[in-house]
Amino acid sequence: MKDELLELKSRALKELESVSERPDIEELRQRYLGRKGLLILLLKKLVELPKEERPAIGKLANQVKEDLIRKFQSVSDSLTTKDLEDVSVLDVTLPGRRIPLGHLHPITKITEEICNIFVKLGFRVVQGPEVELDYYNFEALNMPKEHPARDMQDTFYISDNVVLRTHTSPMQIRIMEKTSPPVSIVAPGKVYRPDSDISHTPMFHQVEGLLVDKGVSFGDLKGTLTTFVHQMFGPGIDLRFRPSFFPFTEPSAEVDIRCVVCQGKGCRVCSHTGWLEILGSGMVDPEVFKIVGYDLESVSGFAFGMGVERIAMLKSGLDDIRLFFENDIRFLQQF
Ligand SMILES: [Zn+2]
Repeated sequence: MKDELLELKSRALKELESVSERPDIEELRQRYLGRKGLLILLLKKLVELPKEERPAIGKLANQVKEDLIRKFQSVSDSLTTKDLEDVSVLDVTLPGRRIPLGHLHPITKITEEICNIFVKLGFRVVQGPEVELDYYNFEALNMPKEHPARDMQDTFYISDNVVLRTHTSPMQIRIMEKTSPPVSIVAPGKVYRPDSDISHTPMFHQVEGLLVDKGVSFGDLKGTLTTFVHQMFGPGIDLRFRPSFFPFTEPSAEVDIRCVVCQGKGCRVCSHTGWLEILGSGMVDPEVFKIVGYDLESVSGFAFGMGVERIAMLKSGLDDIRLFFENDIRFLQQF
């Protein structure tokens, strides 16, 4: 048994010389010195020896064990030293790696810019569902089923009575249903229509506005929207109100600004008219007040809606709306 012990020791030392990776050393240590290792297995035979031989063999076994433990430890220590030496080739005086900082998407920025102007004028920001009932998206806005105005808005239908909202106007109804006048809100958010070309994407953004109070006139509408346009595009910009039609306002008006590209001389962007349409507006139709149960005799109001992408494009001189949603970092970094 003495020979077996010495043989085990020399075999372990020899194998240890041939490994250089920490996991291999650990595996070897387990194989020889672990709780089910070769040394323990060998020591189990100790009981088979005559009593008088046991102390001497036991002593030798302890010696072998201690020698091996020390050798394993010293090999492992030398690896640690080597690791530290490797680390020292790092040049800590090199400048650190910069983590790139992101920023808000241009559409988010413009949406905030629009809302902030109205918040300063006393409006409150509200948000609502993008998957909307037909009732809020059309019917309560004075567009019953079969109404021709529905044709102006191609629609994603979820079912007969559920749509992806085609505009943010449903928020007018949702707020008026829950709130007594006076009401002054802006409702930003995503809207959906199945169009896709250089000036349309199936998902885009609108900001809706509504003000209802005693004695609100078309003059208030003009004053509010003129203030908005001057804050958004600069105090010097010309604007005009052009008669239009929306089912939920009466009378209705489109707001145009003097073309920011050609200053009104006429160019491709303004289709040679010198004017750019930026939002729709009008006095709230009495039919809508009836639907939400407001007293027609005591209140009046105005509403407006605008496309965020349209305003972002006019402010930045872009001519392809799809750039906003292609997620190209080279484009987005310019804002
Ligand atoms: Zn122009």
